[in-house]
Amino acid sequence: MPTLRDVLVVGGGPVGSTVARELAGQGHDVVQVEEHTQIGQPVQCGGLLTPHLMDDLPFDVDPLVHTRLSKARIYAPDGTLLHLEADELKSVACDRAALDRKLGELAHEAGAEQRLGTKITGAKRTNGHVKARARTVDGDEETFHARLIVGADGAQSRVAKWFDLFEPKQYISLHGAEMTNLDGLDPEGVEMWLGTERAPGFFTYIIPTGEGEGKVEAGVWNAPRPAKHYFEEMFKDPLSKHHLENAETRFTISATIPFGPASKTVQDRVMLVGDAAGQAKPTTGGGIYTGTYCARILAEEAHEALEDDDLGYERLNRYHERWSSTIGRELRIMMRLRHAFLNLSDGDLNDIWERLAQPEVRKILNEHGDIDYVSKLALELLKSQPGLLRYTPKVLKGFFTDLSIDHVPSQAR
Ligand SMILES: Cc1cc2nc3c(=O)[nH]c(=O)nc-3n(C[C@H](O)[C@H](O)[C@H](O)COP(=O)(O)OP(=O)(O)OC[C@H]3O[C@@H](n4cnc5c(N)ncnc54)[C@H](O)[C@@H]3O)c2cc1C
Repeated sequence: MPTLRDVLVVGGGPVGSTVARELAGQGHDVVQVEEHTQIGQPVQCGGLLTPHLMDDLPFDVDPLVHTRLSKARIYAPDGTLLHLEADELKSVACDRAALDRKLGELAHEAGAEQRLGTKITGAKRTNGHVKARARTVDGDEETFHARLIVGADGAQSRVAKWFDLFEPKQYISLHGAEMTNLDGLDPEGVEMWLGTERAPGFFTYIIPTGEGEGKVEAGVWNAPRPAKHYFEEMFKDPLSKHHLENAETRFTISATIPFGPASKTVQDRVMLVGDAAGQAKPTTGGGIYTGTYCARILAEEAHEALEDDDLGYERLNRYHERWSSTIGRELRIMMRLRHAFLNLSDGDLNDIWERLAQPEVRKILNEHGDIDYVSKLALELLKSQPGLLRYTPKVLKGFFTDLSIDHVPSQAR
């Protein structure tokens, strides 16, 4: 008889490791499978962590922090600058590979078996459990049997596809690099540039990670050219090129982020979480805080369901309802704000930036700006700058965009 594990976690990212740690810590027999031979590699991330996330992490993140950020310089398409400077810490840029490694170690210490260099190549329900095929980097084939499978397999989740669960509404494509010899960067501030020519559907940015070092990235959606083109244009753009004239590449980054929280994240014996479930923030693309937040909810619900040996849709759906009615609500608001942003022309953005750059408005942005929770900030801004109401029709159009267009499977369970 093959060994029947309690849980197969697919993915060795921060979200998969959080699920594996929490469930193994409760005494469940957990196997966590990661296709790469090292957890944390290759790095495909800006490494920004928010204070909420730092509070939630189960270890002191300080040794992994490169820079502490309280400022942002955000440029409208015409170059109008919005310079934000908060009294408090807004985020840190950290060593993302080390963060993933640490979370992986904690999962291992909690008792999860980790199989690195092993890719799950297919999975299905059979005879009251889940059967998953795997291939190792050496070409060996293996089969895992588990009572429950957790898809924490990131942006291009195959678990979601195999179980007909979720296709994101939008994929942001990002291309960039960790670079050295950057000039004129404030080590406490992120730089961001907007504009349909510069970065259709998203933005370009630099996150300082040390003296003269930073992550330089371009994110686009629905763009006529690949993200790499917009990254290369940053070196010619009058607004950003002065930072990049002497830049040298340490390593490149090229990846996608799925946007739009999934309307369904469980099936019988199947749960999705993290980027696999569209849990990244549709405003900035940050997904570590929201994904690990949902991972902990998943682990609580999965623990009880495993104890009661009730791994059917109805029981597992408690996880979906819990994340969807808490952080999911904020993600849906962010997705609507994103649609509103997509409805604005470059001219609109230039005008809005002029208004936001007013001292009294910047005060509100500095005080209420919270990357993880934006709904309160939006209301405060409207109270202070009623002139922004002229964009109401476009914003409302964004808000009433049909968000139910993601793939909802006909076979619900
Ligand atoms: C360029 C870029 C910059 C970003 N910057 C930030 C940032 O500054 N801050 C932030 O919070 N978020 C950022 N994000 C988003 C963040 O990286 C993700 O939201 C986060 O990594 C999601 O974690 P996860 O564990 O769900 O998925 P992942 O971190 O993608 O982990 C999934 C893992 O599953 C593995 N896997 C996939 N398929 C299989 C399989 N079949 N078998 C075995 N293993 C498999 C993958 O190799 C991967 O290791 C950024 C993303 C990108 C692309």
